[in-house]
Amino acid sequence: MPGGVAVIGGSIAGCAAALAAVRGGAEKVTVFERAAGELRVRGTGIGMHKDRFTELAAAGYVDEDMPWAPMNRRLWTVADGSRRGGRAIAVQPFPFRAYAWGTLWSALRERVPAGTDYRPDAVVRGVEQDADGVTVRLGDGGSERFDAVIGADGYRSVVREAMFDDVKPHYAGYVGWRGTSPDTGPCPEFQQDDCHVAVFPGGHCMLYRITVPGGGTRLNWVLYTVPPEVPGFSGDLTSATSLPPGRLSADLTTALRTLVSTHMPPYWAEQILAAPPETTFIQPIYDLEVPRYASGRLLLAGDAATIARPHTGGGSVKALQDAYALEQAWRAGGSWAEITAAYDEGRTALGAQLVALGRRLGHAQVEHTPDWAAMQEADLDAWWAAQNGGSAAGSGFGGTALRRG
Ligand SMILES: Cc1cc2nc3c(=O)[nH]c(=O)nc-3n(C[C@H](O)[C@H](O)[C@H](O)COP(=O)(O)OP(=O)(O)OC[C@H]3O[C@@H](n4cnc5c(N)ncnc54)[C@H](O)[C@@H]3O)c2cc1C
Repeated sequence: MPGGVAVIGGSIAGCAAALAAVRGGAEKVTVFERAAGELRVRGTGIGMHKDRFTELAAAGYVDEDMPWAPMNRRLWTVADGSRRGGRAIAVQPFPFRAYAWGTLWSALRERVPAGTDYRPDAVVRGVEQDADGVTVRLGDGGSERFDAVIGADGYRSVVREAMFDDVKPHYAGYVGWRGTSPDTGPCPEFQQDDCHVAVFPGGHCMLYRITVPGGGTRLNWVLYTVPPEVPGFSGDLTSATSLPPGRLSADLTTALRTLVSTHMPPYWAEQILAAPPETTFIQPIYDLEVPRYASGRLLLAGDAATIARPHTGGGSVKALQDAYALEQAWRAGGSWAEITAAYDEGRTALGAQLVALGRRLGHAQVEHTPDWAAMQEADLDAWWAAQNGGSAAGSGFGGTALRRG
């Protein structure tokens, strides 16, 4: 059982991993987080399947106090002449909770036990393991020793780099353009708790309400498409990167706004166009899987280990489940090699399964979109079932069921 554990990254996976390490019996836990300020202002919406929430609440990683907005139906909607909300091709059950990313992070941050040394503004440059422990090299030139290190440092993980130098995120060829807009209430034809997928040739846009930190609601949206070719935007997103608010060129924003106006039902287009352009951002979509979740004294959790395309709706759930699996492995005891082997066995195959699902969903919903307008409800249901190998319940959509120890 390691005494001193470092967690690199203090976001969703990092806070959960710190909690897991403390519960597992680590004597001292230190979290290194590169960001200097509060992370709660980051990001937009996170959907969490209701069954996965219930399991994670029972495991002690989330709770009812975190404000959320319900989602019950998912409507696949196509533009149809002057019909403001478009035409719903299909209506499917969608038992998800909608969270603001900041709410989820704040709740997890509060769960990090007192006594944990959570250090903001602390960049880790690299990690090196040897027979006795791990040296963490810091951005300020210093270094510290730990018995084990958990890499919860996201898609550009330095811990993963130390474990598998040749494993990098692979650009899927398209992006998610994200933002939130003022919530002006439901479109008259639809319900407040609907999640909308406005579909168009070459992509789709998902929209749902979130309860924002501090109160009130906003309309969260993410539009997936191949980025338009515009001057000043190379489109070379093959190296893991993102374009945060303020970094999108005017030409790129204009091209995306034109796409929205041209292809989306008027009501949904107006909602997106109401978001101040300078607050919107782009996340290129990547696939990533690792051969192992643990190697010696180095472990991975969350996006550092696997990135499943967001259509799976399960990235945060997987990050929280990674932490719980680690806690379980730790609690089960045994040698360090046995603990890491148990963790590895529980997570590596499951992570790869989610990544494969994300590829299938992205292929069907963005890369090779069908003739949506010609589809009837039964066609869409069959198309959706095919992406899920017949059953969304068993495919891992929304995250796989949690294995309790
Ligand atoms: C468009 C989009 C939509 C999504 N929608 C959903 C959804 O609806 N539901 C869902 O469950 N998931 C969704 N996800 C996925 C989800 O956001 C992630 O899977 C989840 O947040 C995992 O977070 P993480 O903590 O592993 O990584 P991150 O949030 O990336 O955190 C990594 C942290 O490590 C820090 N860090 C990195 N490098 C260093 C370093 N060298 N030193 C110190 N600190 C470092 C970073 O600052 C950061 O805080 C979506 C993702 C995208 C892109």
